[in-house]
Amino acid sequence: MTGMKQFIFATTSLLIASATLFLSCKKDTAGAGTTSNATLPDVFKKFNTTVTISVEGNYVVLKSTGIPDHKSPYFATTNAQYEAYNGTNPNYAKNPNSIQSQSYVFKIPVSPVKASASTTTPLGPMGISINGVPLFNQYAAGNAPLTNEVNSFDQYNGHPQQTGQYHYHVEPLFITQQKGRNALIGFLLDGYPVYGPMENGSILTTSQLDGYHGHFAVTADYPNGIYHYHITADAPYINGNGFYGTPGTVTQ
Ligand SMILES: [Zn+2]
Ligand SMILES: [Zn+2]
Repeated sequence: MTGMKQFIFATTSLLIASATLFLSCKKDTAGAGTTSNATLPDVFKKFNTTVTISVEGNYVVLKSTGIPDHKSPYFATTNAQYEAYNGTNPNYAKNPNSIQSQSYVFKIPVSPVKASASTTTPLGPMGISINGVPLFNQYAAGNAPLTNEVNSFDQYNGHPQQTGQYHYHVEPLFITQQKGRNALIGFLLDGYPVYGPMENGSILTTSQLDGYHGHFAVTADYPNGIYHYHITADAPYINGNGFYGTPGTVTQ
């Protein structure tokens, strides 16, 4: 009898030990070996298919060449996308640059959160529009005002800088002509969306927005409401005093 009791005790102990080992192994595997990706929100379906979109952890990764989906006088005259300036600015003056293909990788938070301390937007890409063209802030090189640059904006309000990065500082007219002036334009690096100047049938100005150039409201893509930026005709056009949220990254 004693022998049998010892056998049962030993067997039970072995089973408990095995079960514990099995559970701890399983836990280790799930913790270290698996990366759980967030779900891509439907709103990203609004991007052109030329923008490659995936999710890595809690970031949406958007890859783009930055070539616009519309014509421009900044393409070579031999390019099918070339179109001479036909806009409305009597002071238009083409700059010496031309549009070059880029290798942008934007990583922006899937679920943006307000930053405890705001950071300033960089010169160069601070966001990406739905056609893959980067959004730039309200400054020219050296943080100079855009006063002189505006005259080099083409008929769709974009222009290339020295390394051929075509970009928008102001309302991208091809997008708003196609999608509407209340449409989603894109996202800044902090993951918050950017909308055109119109909301609920009226055109917004900077004075109706906060210091970052946005506000919290319901949009067509976010029925529960979200913080978002608006593009306005008056300075600072897209963003004001820096990112409302914590920015992701862009490599170029
Ligand atoms: Zn510029
Ligand atoms: Zn709004």
